[in-house]
Amino acid sequence: MCAMTPSEEAPMRNHSKLAEKSTPYWWEAAPVQPLPRQPLHTRQDVVIVGAGYTGLAAALPLARAGRSVAVFDALNPGEGASSRNGGITSGSIRPGFATLVRHFGEQTALAIEAEGKTARAFFYDFIRTEGLDCDFALTGLFKGALGFDQYDEMARGAEALAKRLGIESYAVPYADQRDYIGTGFYRGGTVRMDIGGLHPAKFHAELLRIALAAGVVVHAHTPVTAMERDGRVFRIATAAGTVEAGQVLVCTNGYTDGAAPYLRRRLVPVRSRMIATEELPPAVMAHLMPRRMMMGENRQLGFYYRPSPDGRRILLGGRDSSRVGDPAAPTLRLRAGLVELFPELEGVRLTHSWFGNVAMNRDMLPRLFERDGVVYATGFCGSGVVWAPWLGMRAAHRLLGREAEARTAFDFRPPAAVPFYRGNPWFMPAIIRGYALQDRLAMWRAHR
Ligand SMILES: Cc1cc2nc3c(=O)[nH]c(=O)nc-3n(C[C@H](O)[C@H](O)[C@H](O)COP(=O)(O)OP(=O)(O)OC[C@H]3O[C@@H](n4cnc5c(N)ncnc54)[C@H](O)[C@@H]3O)c2cc1C
Repeated sequence: MCAMTPSEEAPMRNHSKLAEKSTPYWWEAAPVQPLPRQPLHTRQDVVIVGAGYTGLAAALPLARAGRSVAVFDALNPGEGASSRNGGITSGSIRPGFATLVRHFGEQTALAIEAEGKTARAFFYDFIRTEGLDCDFALTGLFKGALGFDQYDEMARGAEALAKRLGIESYAVPYADQRDYIGTGFYRGGTVRMDIGGLHPAKFHAELLRIALAAGVVVHAHTPVTAMERDGRVFRIATAAGTVEAGQVLVCTNGYTDGAAPYLRRRLVPVRSRMIATEELPPAVMAHLMPRRMMMGENRQLGFYYRPSPDGRRILLGGRDSSRVGDPAAPTLRLRAGLVELFPELEGVRLTHSWFGNVAMNRDMLPRLFERDGVVYATGFCGSGVVWAPWLGMRAAHRLLGREAEARTAFDFRPPAAVPFYRGNPWFMPAIIRGYALQDRLAMWRAHR
């Protein structure tokens, strides 16, 4: 238990369970903004649909190479997942190495893992060389094990990662766990030092700033409603009128709508929710997150969590099985998860609870692919802070005909269509309930 002085304890006595605001904590420092309305140019070299990380990261090299580029977003730029996420620079892949080998062969599996390392290195270098002010810190990530069997497996994985890719990663036994995280909930864990955290909305705002400076035209609140190919030209219908373009790139990820029906049948949007605590006393933060690392775990519906960049509060996220409105239950579930990890936060006040869409596909791998001349960079499966800018830029190089720079292990067949699915993920609540059951069973087995 942490030691708190009486004056420090006072703000944590409010037992209100729900949060004060339903907007992202990140928007306090970097609110998403409407942009001034831009005149519509009816002829562009490239049209990009979606002004999140992927779309803007693609627009930047295209504009710098002299292409005329218009980016359309149905919302404010960044109002999708790119200003709502946890800011953990994970660049990880959901399927484990063994699964990748089974599905794609050892060579592709190794190429995919190696690309994560390259993409993270590129990303950190990009932030530095472009001078992006986004609170980035390479803190490392601690992943907790639910039981000792899981710990053994994770420890072997950390060793393999170090050997295979030269990534600084190691196991933390239960006895040393509290040097990393103030909880007895896990049975040890692993650390990898190539992952850190940033302020996601500041990062997006900075990406937008340099894209605009490079000459990219961004149309906010201007949905693309249809795309049609006529020989070598695409006709893009938007809420502001029709634009002709030589090339089209779709970067709509978890917000994909009827304007991209081929993609919509292949990506299932799933809500991911985050909560932010009130500011906690410095002694509590030092006890709970002594190294200010990013945190994760190995449950199907595992939580990801971190200190805010100023180190004063905890932000925790996880899946949200709701589909409409903004119900209370998902916030209460995250709050209960937070308190299970850190019982001393029982009375903590939440200042923010918000959600955004991530995009899942059937094999849980991001993709860069082309279909009928339209290029798609998408499918980040909840891990896009590194992958989205990375694949956005690979897509740009592809459009520029720069073969070497465009190369990526994720450039292969499109994701498979989801059977009987046309954009209404009615089955997701049931799938999430199934995962929750698997997690309860795994916890029961681990702790029996
Ligand atoms: C709560 C939450 C927490 C997350 N945490 C992490 C994390 O810690 N680490 C990590 O790596 N990843 C995380 N992610 C995932 C990450 O945020 C995304 O993978 C990434 O932001 C995807 O970027 P994007 O540009 O592809 O998509 P988005 O940022 O979602 O942008 C897509 C845009 O397309 C626009 N659009 C859609 N259809 C149209 C249309 N017809 N016309 C015009 N515009 C259209 C939308 O308005 C939207 O702005 C998280 C996501 C969420 C929601």
